[in-house]
Amino acid sequence: MESNSRKVGPKSNSRRGNPGLNAQDSYGTVPENSSAFCSFPPGVPYLDLSIFREEGVKDLIKKRSKDMYQLLQDVRFDGKYYRVKCVKSNDWVCCWDLAVRVEFFGKMQGVTIYPNRKVLKDEKTIVYKFLILVNPYELWEEELVSKFWNIQERLEYLIARILFHECIHVMIALGKNLPEGFGDTDISLEFRKILETANSEKLDPECREVQFRLWNLVVFGSSDEDNEEKMFMRVLEIYEFLLNEKYSIQKTGKAFGYPMGNKKIAGKYSWMAAVKTGGSRQVEKKVWKTEAMRLRRALVTLFDAIDGELQSGR
Ligand SMILES: [Zn+2]
Repeated sequence: MESNSRKVGPKSNSRRGNPGLNAQDSYGTVPENSSAFCSFPPGVPYLDLSIFREEGVKDLIKKRSKDMYQLLQDVRFDGKYYRVKCVKSNDWVCCWDLAVRVEFFGKMQGVTIYPNRKVLKDEKTIVYKFLILVNPYELWEEELVSKFWNIQERLEYLIARILFHECIHVMIALGKNLPEGFGDTDISLEFRKILETANSEKLDPECREVQFRLWNLVVFGSSDEDNEEKMFMRVLEIYEFLLNEKYSIQKTGKAFGYPMGNKKIAGKYSWMAAVKTGGSRQVEKKVWKTEAMRLRRALVTLFDAIDGELQSGR
């Protein structure tokens, strides 16, 4: 990845005035009320987060992914946007800016916020801006404390782990959005393989079952203004979100010795997906919950089938 880094654009704390932002992450949508980001989690001792060394975090990432290190190499973790790459394709220039901020904000480990792309017609430039928020609230978790007694080391390790997960989302998005070939990294290619496997003819029954359950949930959560096309797009979006999370969690787990099986991921994320579909607006909560359980089962089957296919193809 060619690195062309410099500081650009407004500070990320102009977030309140940036209506184009939308968040898609492991932990769902960022609340509208951004004061949630500034609150200190209750029961957590006060800690000056500036004790971590950026280089320490970057070294931990470098050992695990060269592509990701290149992405982060020149980005300071101060919440400001840095231009990390520009590519030229058919007279148009595509650039992406990345900002990283570390702060406590409730109980979400991390969030990647990405706006729609910004098209500057006169300059023939398209700019993608990503903001990653890292929340090391698990700093006092027993297993982590026993692994890293030194708080600076523990903080750096935790930030690196969360950042790794969020950067996977960013790299997948870049692989998808940049002109063909320009956004390719090991990570985006690996994820594409998972997507292809999930959508292959062989896994058609497993894929359809998940999408059928999602469709029912979208119908349950729909409002009168929703049309079928919009609802179907919602199904596909959440379906891809689930695969994206499976990949990001397991890739990070492998890199940091923090494994999570399909059952656990399906349990956590089927619930999140069910909430994302709009909740139980049209039906009784009991019916909605049953469907969320069915989604969970269908998801475990699909995830296991994907792993089986990928292993047999090796
Ligand atoms: Zn995630």
